[in-house]
Amino acid sequence: MITLTLDQQRTIALLRKGIATTELMAIMSWGAVQFILGASFLSAFTLLPLIILFFLLFAQAYAKSIIAWRFSGLLFVAVFVLSFKILFIKEPYLYTHFSLAFSIICVTGESLLIRKKSDFLIAAILTWAIVFPLTDNLSDSSDYTYILVFFVSSFTLGLVNNRTYWQSLEDTLAGEAHYRMIAETDYLTSIYNRRAFMERLNKFTESKPGGFFLMIDIDNFKKINDSYGHDVGDQVLCAMASYFRAVEGNSVYGRIGGEEFAVFIDTLSEKTALAYAQRLLEIVRNGYSSPVAFTISAGLVPFTKGDQLSEILVRGDRCLYMAKNTGKNKISTTS
Ligand code: GH3
Ligand code: MG
Ligand code: MG
Repeated sequence: MITLTLDQQRTIALLRKGIATTELMAIMSWGAVQFILGASFLSAFTLLPLIILFFLLFAQAYAKSIIAWRFSGLLFVAVFVLSFKILFIKEPYLYTHFSLAFSIICVTGESLLIRKKSDFLIAAILTWAIVFPLTDNLSDSSDYTYILVFFVSSFTLGLVNNRTYWQSLEDTLAGEAHYRMIAETDYLTSIYNRRAFMERLNKFTESKPGGFFLMIDIDNFKKINDSYGHDVGDQVLCAMASYFRAVEGNSVYGRIGGEEFAVFIDTLSEKTALAYAQRLLEIVRNGYSSPVAFTISAGLVPFTKGDQLSEILVRGDRCLYMAKNTGKNKISTTS
């Protein structure tokens, strides 16, 4: 199954209400026409489309894959149009008077509801082909020309509508994703900044039973800046970010201050968490991507579900300063 990407989820979430409302209006229009005609709501012809259309409305609203989302939308259009076509055959007066308006409204509505251009084209052609608003009452060939003009204009208008509407929605979403990325990324190292890291830690502490928090500070960083210059200091910070990327482990990391970094590790085992921290310390000591050698000190503390972030940070900080005060270039734990 092709599951929804983040972008698709966002698009569908934005449209869910609008699509469901429009589909509900379509269902109500079917009910209203049946009511005006005095049809029994217990008859299969009245009830069956209502049930199928409601089912498709919910299927689309809760679709878990993009294929299911698109398919249920297209099927909704097909069932709706087909039901009206059968009604038109049963009621020739409605056919001759309203089928043209019906087709045009359907195609315009579809242009706003159906995302992919190809899906819209299928739906529009399906609508006109099924309804086929030509009747015996059409007297001469010029009438057919008018119908063709209506067909082409509703189709073109729908296509322009579809592209303009979706393009602006896609542009908005792309802009939103871009600004979210900027707001969450540390400008120098391109890893999570403090806000993004804290947000993720917060979600983690709310949903998972617990984990380990690692507070890291580069040793004697001021000296690096003073001896080699600020630019080299910046390169050291970037090297540190590359080490996080290189170390294996189920972890989320970020730069939370000048030369301070933090990690949370998704494990309840202190052994696993400590092994992660040691791998990190080791890779820093090897220093393969840094312009100058440097070391780090770290404090490793456990946390459990519901712990306050500020509390976790204070505990991590305390532990880190134990490492700093006992010689640096090491990891301190609470045990
Ligand atoms: P300790 O081992 O006790 O941690 O000592 P330290 O020198 O690493 O710590 P200190 O807090 O004295 O110095 C941190 C320095 O980090 C001071 C600040 O100028 C520098 N710094 C903060 N942000 C940046 C940055 O973005 N780039 C560079 N190059 N330096 C930064
Ligand atoms: Mg510091
Ligand atoms: Mg430091």
